[in-house]
Amino acid sequence: MHTSGMQADVIVVGLGAVGSAAAWQLARRGARVLGLDRFSPPHDRGSSHGLTRVTREAVGEGDAYVPLVRRSHAIWREVQAALAGALDGPLMTRTGVLYIGPDGSEDAFVARTAAVARRHGVPHEALSAAKVRRRWPQFRAGDDETAVFEPGAGVVHPERCIGAQLELARRAGATLRGDAPVQRIERTAAGLAVHTAAGVLHAPQVLLTAGAWLPGLLAEAGIGWARELRVLRQTLHWLVPDDPAPFAPDACPTFVWTRGHRYEDTFYGMPMLDGVPGVKVGTEQLERDTAPDALQREVAEAETAELHQRLVQPRLRGLSGRAVRRAACLYTMAPDGRFRVDSPAAWPGLTAVSACSGHGFKHSAALGEALAERLLTGRSTLDLAPFVA
Ligand SMILES: Cc1cc2nc3c(=O)[nH]c(=O)nc-3n(C[C@H](O)[C@H](O)[C@H](O)COP(=O)(O)OP(=O)(O)OC[C@H]3O[C@@H](n4cnc5c(N)ncnc54)[C@H](O)[C@@H]3O)c2cc1C
Repeated sequence: MHTSGMQADVIVVGLGAVGSAAAWQLARRGARVLGLDRFSPPHDRGSSHGLTRVTREAVGEGDAYVPLVRRSHAIWREVQAALAGALDGPLMTRTGVLYIGPDGSEDAFVARTAAVARRHGVPHEALSAAKVRRRWPQFRAGDDETAVFEPGAGVVHPERCIGAQLELARRAGATLRGDAPVQRIERTAAGLAVHTAAGVLHAPQVLLTAGAWLPGLLAEAGIGWARELRVLRQTLHWLVPDDPAPFAPDACPTFVWTRGHRYEDTFYGMPMLDGVPGVKVGTEQLERDTAPDALQREVAEAETAELHQRLVQPRLRGLSGRAVRRAACLYTMAPDGRFRVDSPAAWPGLTAVSACSGHGFKHSAALGEALAERLLTGRSTLDLAPFVA
């Protein structure tokens, strides 16, 4: 094993949603960046594939996230303008987002979403179930349900965002290497050593943004909170509509539909986008953990049938149980569904970030920027305190 001679100020381990953003933001601030990924991002092995992610300013998960998503939108608009001709489509698409859930509970996701919208001045509309059915007959909202519509929200296109940020990182001078899995991190007298199959790399600072593989890297380093993270397989299904018209982007909003308090009862979807002749729908499961390298990537027809019977058919009109496309993807869940940013005292120069919990993509561009500032100056414009371990 040889020791690489490249002088890096920061080695970024993992170039997905957060890592691609951080690598670019570090490089554009003049840092010498070496970015490593176990695959060739954007790819379909981690947490950031499947063409779309819901993005919304009325973040029912909590007020602390609102500045992150707002800044991320501003950054992606900037990226879109910078790379205009070089992109094969938009980074974000405004579709509106409709939140539907049980009426009468102040703690429910719809109520929390409306409360965040009010506190932060996010344009939104409260709707009864009858109004939802009149406006979008494809949604079978029940009379015991209530809804909020956020017209400015929509989807972000993850693969395109990651590809664009990596392109800008390269243009800003970053060295990026795919097929370069990091085996472990080590403390040395001179700083940090990053072990890969091709050699040992050194830098005073290392940013671990390895997504579902972060728990393994942390455990190897003896960093205790690895045990708090759970890696979970999720599935996505693009279902064929009987008639595409009600599911076209101008006729159908993106939606998040909750029923009860169990994750498995949450159900979300997007209108037909990206030229795929199906409506993407998904739910969440927190029952069975997986290891990222053991991910069962094929999604069985029976899994689509179960989702269709249990959640889709009772709620959406005109969507068949036939999938034109399926994908499996990984959640990394932290306790309480929060993000975690940690610079362990015993590891000078190391920062580890877990920012998924099933809702991280929309925040990733701003998080990358704040992390770059934190690494280079010790503080960030956006407050990371709510997420710092
Ligand atoms: C099905 C599904 C639906 C979701 N829906 C939404 C949504 O609607 N809205 C939303 O905002 N968020 C959503 N999320 C969450 C969001 O996608 C994640 O929070 C986000 O993608 C996580 O990004 P990341 O950078 O942590 O991980 P990733 O993007 O997976 O990046 C990690 C990278 O690290 C690399 N890596 C791993 N180990 C190593 C190693 N040892 N050496 C080198 N490289 C390594 C991997 O190859 C990968 O490229 C969803 C997630 C899933 C799975």
